[in-house]
Amino acid sequence: MRIDLHAHSSVSDGTEPPAEVVRRAAAAGLDVLALTDHDTVAGISAAAAELPPGFTLVPGLELSCLHEGAGVHLLAYLFDAEHPELAAELRRIRDDRILRARAMVERLQTAGVEVSWERVCALAGVAAAGAVEAAGTSVIGRPHIARAIVEAGAAADVPEAFDRWIGVGGPGYVARYALDALRAVELVRAAGGVCAVAHPARGESTPDGAVPMSLIEQLADAGLGGIEADHPSHDDEEAAYWRGAAKRLELAVTGSSDDHGELTGHRLGCRTTAPEEYARLIEPATGCAPLTAG
Ligand code: AMP
Ligand code: MN
Ligand code: MN
Ligand code: MN
Repeated sequence: MRIDLHAHSSVSDGTEPPAEVVRRAAAAGLDVLALTDHDTVAGISAAAAELPPGFTLVPGLELSCLHEGAGVHLLAYLFDAEHPELAAELRRIRDDRILRARAMVERLQTAGVEVSWERVCALAGVAAAGAVEAAGTSVIGRPHIARAIVEAGAAADVPEAFDRWIGVGGPGYVARYALDALRAVELVRAAGGVCAVAHPARGESTPDGAVPMSLIEQLADAGLGGIEADHPSHDDEEAAYWRGAAKRLELAVTGSSDDHGELTGHRLGCRTTAPEEYARLIEPATGCAPLTAG
């Protein structure tokens, strides 16, 4: 069984529609895929409608969290998406993403970069009215802005757009609302789901900085289920370090591609999770079940 527990679709900052992500996952030889768009499960039903026989889809999402200044991304799986408090937080996060993206576009325009709000919305697949209510089901993120920056000729490619303009602390960067990481783990547990720390060697607030081990330990106490030790951004030493941490804390060791389609170079299945680690991760989850077609 080949299992990939982290992938994005065009519902957030991936480039392929959810059904195409599933099709590509099966073509890559995967048996299980978690669709983990940023801050939304809006792509799950479209993905579920296209499952090849025997293929399993794990509903999930990725949450960018903070705790005492440290950035940590959490993958949440198999929660009840209707849980009122969790649903309200997700709505607040998505709404703030719109306001933040608008503010970033204004900053870039002030800096002389000819990006338009309409074009960023088109790249993100959201209505250009810009009103929060117009956001629909797609989630806007910095990669959409990066693509508009490249189109405007202010960077050669998306990585350069991050380096020059919209990386943390860059001239076009604006922070967004984020859940406290401990609260996020507790909230996902309360909704019947389970969390794993995504790419722990790459916390967000400190460029290339790892998530502090003291925070990982606190998250473990709060009910964290796993650590994504195997991620394409981790070198062998980092993967071994985080595998050891997961074992010591009695957490599941996961591995995943964090595929974003063209944005990352198609890479579904480039890292995988062992079946026994997957079983261990999802064992406590009761919010919903993995989806399997005939
Ligand atoms: P946001 O969630 O809107 O802050 O955007 C973060 C997303 O941008 C991540 O999920 C990645 O997909 C992407 N990203 C972050 N840093 C970089 C980078 N240096 N180069 C390319 N993409 C990046
Ligand atoms: Mn992303
Ligand atoms: Mn991430
Ligand atoms: Mn991701």
